[in-house]
Amino acid sequence: MTFGISRRGFLAGSAGLIALHPFSVHAATNQAHLRIMETTDLHVHVFPYDYYADKPRDTVGLARTASLVQGIRDEASNSLLIDNGDFLQGNPMGDYIAYERGMKDGDMHPVIEAMNTLGFDASTLGNHEFNYGLDFLMKALAGADFPVVSANVALELGADPTRDKTLIPPYVILDHKVTDGAGQEHAIRVGLIGFVPPQIMGWDRRHLEGKVQARDIVETARAYIPQMKEQGADIIVALSHSGIGAADHSDGMENASVPLAGLDGIDAILTGHSHLVFPSPDYADFAGVDAEAGTLMGKPATMGGFWGSHMGLIDLLIEKDGDAWRVVSAETEARPIARRNEDRSITALVDSDPQVLASVQQEHDETLAYVRRAVGKTDAPLHSYFALVADDPSVQIVSIAQLWYIEQMLKGTEHEGLPILSAAAPFKAGGRGGPEYFTDVPKGDVAIKNVSDLYLYPNTARAVRVTGQQVKDWLERSAGIFNQVEPGASDVVLLNPAFPSYNFDVIDGVEYQIDLSQPSKYDPKGVLINEDASRIVNLTYQGAPLDMEAEFIIATNNYRAGGGGSFPGASPDTTVFEGPDTNRDVIVRYIVEKGTISPRADANWTFKPMPGTTVLFDTGPAAKTYAEDVPGVEIEEAGDGPDGFARFRISL
Ligand code: MN
Ligand code: MG
Repeated sequence: MTFGISRRGFLAGSAGLIALHPFSVHAATNQAHLRIMETTDLHVHVFPYDYYADKPRDTVGLARTASLVQGIRDEASNSLLIDNGDFLQGNPMGDYIAYERGMKDGDMHPVIEAMNTLGFDASTLGNHEFNYGLDFLMKALAGADFPVVSANVALELGADPTRDKTLIPPYVILDHKVTDGAGQEHAIRVGLIGFVPPQIMGWDRRHLEGKVQARDIVETARAYIPQMKEQGADIIVALSHSGIGAADHSDGMENASVPLAGLDGIDAILTGHSHLVFPSPDYADFAGVDAEAGTLMGKPATMGGFWGSHMGLIDLLIEKDGDAWRVVSAETEARPIARRNEDRSITALVDSDPQVLASVQQEHDETLAYVRRAVGKTDAPLHSYFALVADDPSVQIVSIAQLWYIEQMLKGTEHEGLPILSAAAPFKAGGRGGPEYFTDVPKGDVAIKNVSDLYLYPNTARAVRVTGQQVKDWLERSAGIFNQVEPGASDVVLLNPAFPSYNFDVIDGVEYQIDLSQPSKYDPKGVLINEDASRIVNLTYQGAPLDMEAEFIIATNNYRAGGGGSFPGASPDTTVFEGPDTNRDVIVRYIVEKGTISPRADANWTFKPMPGTTVLFDTGPAAKTYAEDVPGVEIEEAGDGPDGFARFRISL
């Protein structure tokens, strides 16, 4: 691998590749390398294991990242290992500790145990550290053998940030030793200061309101840097649990890493929160960002993916200038633990560190037992065999949980009080996935591992604010999954195979019928093809025709709200809430909190009756067990479909 001098004077390496030689520049007398290793957004992933799927996974786990860390340490270089936050929540091990085992005084949290084992030098807090409340957080932090810093969360605000009574220390200045190019040891003081998005006050309102307050990231940094310098910090590294976003600072911004990097006195910056990788082409067109050199406002920066997928690495060449140290040059990269091959298979690039695994073996085993046993009950079977032809319990439960969550999140905002609808689509509904590719959780116990079956993708929760007209067009877009059916025709194939089931959104909170005799308004990609077409009929809200001018909130996910599937009204412009929580976590919390769930489909949508007309559709053979209980549709078996599917006939 070759390095070149970038435009900004930093030495750039290709993102994601492992350097054959540790350094491209040799340190001279009074010069030393200082390597800063980052993990970020671990979300309790220590074992390379997917607890939802209940199987090993090579793309996650601090035990794997640990091997990359050991590789750097084995080069006997001067290094620091720092975690950038979001370690405490985000997988079933985190939920197991929070909801089942608990954290009593003196209890060790497994992710902290693993971090102690690997020997972290410091960490900061991410927004998810607040998900289980302050008491849980403080008990978990008590076990850490390393300092944890966060400058912009305060128990009491002072006249300026440096006078705040912060929740935990705002920064730390580590006394570190580096060896220069001539073999001479020098003392260096490295200042580390941490930041979290101030949005935690909304996201975890129920845990934080009246207890802590959060300040703007850049404002806080600006206040503290001179104080850290006065206290002898030679080098300052910002631990920014915040993404790479706009270059211009705006008050309270969530993704503030670029303007933060622009502050004088900050020498390097660790970023995260976005679950992406830096340097990488993902950030090619961002102002103030050199995505190839790995700099933000000219300062070296990294983002080490998520769940342990990468180790971020900033390699500083520093030089002693009298008493002071300055950064001469830097290289940054993000080293992956696994490679995705062209055939989509995964190749692990490192083995697990056995000590890190051993440190949480017991909690790993307990988590396996936890995901496999019941955490709640469902008094209706949760299956998706008829999700494309009738209102369906597996979609209904997602809708109900989203609604429950978004209602809480919008409390106290300007959007509180607007009617909330909820949109959800069946993810596992046969098709190219085959005749077994359906959600099928029987009535009775619900285990955590069932939730991945209910919600396949690691989407995050969002809400959009739309008009009644947009609600209708959203449904018109969904209804494009059906072929047009001539009245009186028999055995017409119902579904268009070019239309994926994840774009068949059902909206709960309104009632409607789908008129299959009409052409679709949109094509399968969401392009408007029949301006005047209307398949959605008898659309009502609380029993009255839907007011096209009225405003509604729709609970959905980041894919849809980001424009996925091109749904009318679903876009970043209409997004009023961006949740940090995955829809899957929302469903788990809902089930744990409710105990027993009743996701009975309420038949809020049906086909408009077309007497004397029949259609055919194919689903999994296991559907036969449930065919009699499908609400709002007259359905009968019609023999075998192709490729192991079972065929059913619907009389419209
Ligand atoms: Mn995160
Ligand atoms: Mg429904």
